[in-house]
Amino acid sequence: MRWSQLFIPTLREDPAEAEVASHRLLLRAGYIRQLAAGVYSYLYLGQRSALKIMQIIREEMDRIGGQELYLPALHPAELWRETGRWEQMAATMFQLKDHGGRDLCLGMTHEEVMTDLARHELRSYRQLPQIWYQIQVKFRDEARPKSGLMRLRHFIMKDSYSFDLDDAGLDVSYQKHYEAYCRIFTRCGLTYQIVEAHSGAMGGSQSHEFMVISPAGEDRVVTCACGYAANLEKARAGVAPVEDSLDSAKPEIFPTPNIRTIEELAAFAGVAPRFLMKSVAYAIPPPDGAGGEGKYRPPQLVLVLVRGDHEVNEAKLSEALGGAAFRPAHPEEIRQAFGADPGFLGPLGAKDVRILIDEALRGRRNLITGANRDHHHLRYVTPERDFTGEYTDLRAVSSGDPCLECGQPVTVSPAIEVGHIFKLGRRYAEAMGARVLDRDGHLVTLVMGSYGIGVERILTAAVEQHHDKLGIKLPRSIAPFQVVLTPVNLNDASICQTSESLYQSLQQAGCEVLYDDRDERAGVKFNDADLIGVPLRLTVGRKLAEGLVEALDRSSAERQDVTIPQTPAWVRSRSAS
Ligand code: ATP
Ligand code: MG
Repeated sequence: MRWSQLFIPTLREDPAEAEVASHRLLLRAGYIRQLAAGVYSYLYLGQRSALKIMQIIREEMDRIGGQELYLPALHPAELWRETGRWEQMAATMFQLKDHGGRDLCLGMTHEEVMTDLARHELRSYRQLPQIWYQIQVKFRDEARPKSGLMRLRHFIMKDSYSFDLDDAGLDVSYQKHYEAYCRIFTRCGLTYQIVEAHSGAMGGSQSHEFMVISPAGEDRVVTCACGYAANLEKARAGVAPVEDSLDSAKPEIFPTPNIRTIEELAAFAGVAPRFLMKSVAYAIPPPDGAGGEGKYRPPQLVLVLVRGDHEVNEAKLSEALGGAAFRPAHPEEIRQAFGADPGFLGPLGAKDVRILIDEALRGRRNLITGANRDHHHLRYVTPERDFTGEYTDLRAVSSGDPCLECGQPVTVSPAIEVGHIFKLGRRYAEAMGARVLDRDGHLVTLVMGSYGIGVERILTAAVEQHHDKLGIKLPRSIAPFQVVLTPVNLNDASICQTSESLYQSLQQAGCEVLYDDRDERAGVKFNDADLIGVPLRLTVGRKLAEGLVEALDRSSAERQDVTIPQTPAWVRSRSAS
């Protein structure tokens, strides 16, 4: 393609709104433009890269026997009501009404629609297994759309669904996806980490996420040199033992005027935060309609206790509460149950409160915690002796905690989730009545898996992993062009002529070439080529008199002179590697 005829709106300056490198560079390189919060237009270069990513995904899905379908993005509410997700997902679902007043939504994922298809069409074990996939737009009203393509409200997902007769069948379908995902991310040039994941709103028994470690990531992953890797939502680790004082004093109240944070309290009491007990209050609102029409039912309060230097992991808390919806308790609810402000809470004397204690506090003694009286705390508080509660794992792992597998310190790193695979089991098929006849003529519920990949996430993650101060350095497999041909001066007849004929021969050789035939200074052309991230550059200029063009590999910065007749073969050999 001739650059002079293309629309590649590169920007000199960094856009003010861009926080992370990929957002900044994709805007500057003219790949994308924003339409609304979390809604972007993909311009020519962005769309070329996205199509390449989709093609890689398609090839690898086809390779495991996936069949590509295309299902509607507009869904009737009834389907989502059957699984209970119309309410459960309401906060992130775009819900709307048609002119007849019927409820609809824009698909945020397709378990319901795929299961509906399966229950109407699949009849017999002979039709199993099936893997159905699509590459299609998803809509999610994300609370905080941000960072360019990282968290969108409108994005392209490859989602696939497997249907099997039994758990052993699901294991096979899951494994096929696991391997296909590895090939997809490797072919897209990503360095990734596979982690055990929390299944969240999807339900199901097992799930893995494919993560790209990057400071721009919104997820947190815990990894260890021994190979242990899990999402922070799910990760477990040991704790180094703490030497508590053996004092057998009773709890003793002491004034802590205006001390509100753990750090302030630790400094005031002259001890490290690990000798404090942090109290966090949550509320479980009663289900809608409970207690009868118009009658107020107070929420159930839950007090979560963790070590002073630990944080509550809300995914673990959700599991401990059996999936019940919860929220931080409001100050007035806290005052009613504890008789104090949130900064002075503790387990002693709390009324009608369920107490959950993190495992790391088991066996500890003589801790400092809130006294349930404003501006006061207690010291010498010992779990079991002074109060009781349910022990469970509730804390977020921190860097340096000993790995449960090998004892070495684990690392917590930010990461971008690019893919997620779930063993759904029978949850959706059961809720929606998707059954087939087995070999013995009995109706059995289908066993399902669901598997997602974010196309834009791959592109953003690739830019995060592959860029420098000059611009994007996309891997060849997903770069919009393989090679940019840059004549330094088109007013020079021989440069112009050689460039034109090289452009033709590169095209004939099947190279994806971007011919920078713009009437610009060489410096402008070089800067733009570096910015948009074409992996190879051929400069026609100074060395033409010797019959040479200067070849540059953008990612390795390797320079080489190539004779004109050899140029197409050189590009082809580089593109193939
Ligand atoms: P996240 O935790 O980031 O919100 P998720 O767990 O909701 O992701 P899934 O429902 O598993 O994601 O979706 C499958 C894939 O779709 C994700 O792995 C990710 O690559 C992509 N994805 C999900 N939400 C978004 C979004 N808001 N913008 C862009 N891509 C997304
Ligand atoms: Mg999400």
